[in-house]
Amino acid sequence: MTRSATESDAYDVIVVGGGHAGCEAAAAAARTGARTLLVTHRAATIGEMSCNPAIGGLGKGHLVREIDALDGVMARAIDRAGIQFRVLNRSKGPAVQGPRAQADRKLYRLAMQDILAAQENLSIREGGVEDLIVRGESGDRLVGGVVLAGGATIRAPRVVLTTGTFLRGLIHIGERKIPAGRVGEAPALGLSDTLMACGFALGRLKTGTPPRLDGRTIDWAALEEQPGDDPPTPFSTLTGRIETPQISCHITYTSPAAHDIIRANLHRAPMYSGQIEGTGPRYCPSIEDKVVRFADRTRHQIFLEPEGLDDDTVYPNGISTSLPEDVQLAMLAEIPGLERARTIRPGYAIEYDYVDPRELRGTLETRRVRGLYLAGQINGTTGYEEAAAQGLIAGLNAARAAAGEGGSRAPFTLDRAQAYIGVMIDDLITRGTAEPYRMFTSRAEYRLLLRADNADQRLTPAGIAAGCVSGVRAAAFAAKRDRLDAARAVLSGLSAAPGELAAAGIAVSQDGVRRPALKLLAQADIDRAALARLWPDLAAIAPDILQQVANDCRYDGYLDRQQADIAAFRRDESLRLPADLDYRAIGGLSNEMREKLAAARPETLGAAGRIPGVTPAALTALLRHVRRDAA
Ligand code: FAD
Repeated sequence: MTRSATESDAYDVIVVGGGHAGCEAAAAAARTGARTLLVTHRAATIGEMSCNPAIGGLGKGHLVREIDALDGVMARAIDRAGIQFRVLNRSKGPAVQGPRAQADRKLYRLAMQDILAAQENLSIREGGVEDLIVRGESGDRLVGGVVLAGGATIRAPRVVLTTGTFLRGLIHIGERKIPAGRVGEAPALGLSDTLMACGFALGRLKTGTPPRLDGRTIDWAALEEQPGDDPPTPFSTLTGRIETPQISCHITYTSPAAHDIIRANLHRAPMYSGQIEGTGPRYCPSIEDKVVRFADRTRHQIFLEPEGLDDDTVYPNGISTSLPEDVQLAMLAEIPGLERARTIRPGYAIEYDYVDPRELRGTLETRRVRGLYLAGQINGTTGYEEAAAQGLIAGLNAARAAAGEGGSRAPFTLDRAQAYIGVMIDDLITRGTAEPYRMFTSRAEYRLLLRADNADQRLTPAGIAAGCVSGVRAAAFAAKRDRLDAARAVLSGLSAAPGELAAAGIAVSQDGVRRPALKLLAQADIDRAALARLWPDLAAIAPDILQQVANDCRYDGYLDRQQADIAAFRRDESLRLPADLDYRAIGGLSNEMREKLAAARPETLGAAGRIPGVTPAALTALLRHVRRDAA
């Protein structure tokens, strides 16, 4: 699939890195019409899942649906490669349910490579990028392309960096330290120097992965089985149904004896011995972290997830570790079902450089170097979905900016009331992050509106307008919208008296008040079969369409109330602050406020209000100043 690119090839956008951010960035730029080159170390590792073989989950599943709504590739790839689909939080309301699928790691990679190979306008080249071509002086720097290891240069006016954990990556396994971007892959060293030379603020983070087990040595019979949903629900609105065979996972738990072994060897864990300086993900702690932080717990859950249909490798989700290999083996021997388990690869931790995301605009272009975009783990996030969502926004904007050179194509951004993607990017660029950032539903203030089930209704029209949605998806979207409209029209004409409902087996108080079908459908516990007996027209509505209408009705009341909040939010968001605003010239601001605002350079008044520590008085002074300047 690797097509060769020569130095004289003309590209609009170069994407560096074929991980989750890079794949989406390259696909989005190419879909938007930009001549795009993806440069990555190895074509065979495009779409590689560095850690857990799964996509989605709480908050993350929302991101995948939003990526799909903008015609991104992740949802379609996991629909081809998923071997166990589950909707998490099914017992809770649709707003906080999270679609998740476990992947066959190899099938995922192949699906991604296949989708990219078929993408028009996209070339792929193997190589390591060592440096960037940057022209101009501080304050007016402009990217002009990349320099490969060996010295070859490739020019393009827009470059998207998606180098993941590779920037000065350093693996830790107990006392052993190995410079690497992922196990067995060399780190990227030159780019960190380039970024530092441009003045970017770099920090150090870490993450970890568990040992991989040989499934043939696990005592499966002793363990609790966890099947997936039947039928599985696809991620992409373009997927009819899941064709890949489905499997079960199994559950086990750590034990007091395993905890004793961990405690006795903490001094050999790089995190505790001081060997690792980077900050780890608080929400995805290592097993040594869990044993210390939750000292009263006698066991921690472990999901045993097969990594593929024809692969014996098992991923023990819940015990990521950087303890030495001998300690890992001793710990595993004390876990039920794993007493005789052999490891295929030890667990490890990795430290890497990241760029303070406050260096970025909402388009993910850096403020320091024009034309340079950053997406994924390089921005301090963790997780495939977070990376992919950023990749899409960066790739789309890079392509739009490149096309706008002659005319002008406005930046494409999403706000906090539109999408989880908007929440994540706003969090990153206004607050920065001191630990690996991952998505949660609790981060979104308008989460009743931002549901996984309505991502296409929220975002596909914006994607069509931005030019990043294919004709196939646009047609599918229009057809679905027609079916939703038709279903709403049918349902809004239906109502029943209490007696009719009782006769159909639906218990309601006999108060003489007719109940509209839409109100009844919105009730989580309503017997849909009984409703269908009462109104045979319902049978003609597809279950997914009926469910979407029901979800919309369920939240209608809340959403009406939320509209006022959203209107206030949008008012502040619409007040844009000049990029070159001189905060020293604003009267009534303390030095502390000036420093905070000048460091973050918020793009809107709303974003200024979300910078930690910025006071209402400072916002009033800012507002007064901007209004006076505009007058
Ligand atoms: P990556 O997927 O890392 O992709 C980077 C790509 O860039 C690779 O293809 C690489 O070859 C290429 N590249 C890098 N530098 C260059 C260069 N100079 N020139 C050319 N190509 C280059 N996430 C979780 O959510 N939970 C976890 O528990 C978790 N644990 C992890 C454990 C480990 C050990 C690792 C390595 C990652 C873990 N992650 C975890 C993170 C997850 O893998 C990443 O968040 C995700 O893969 C980031 O996607 P990305 O596209 O930013 O980078």
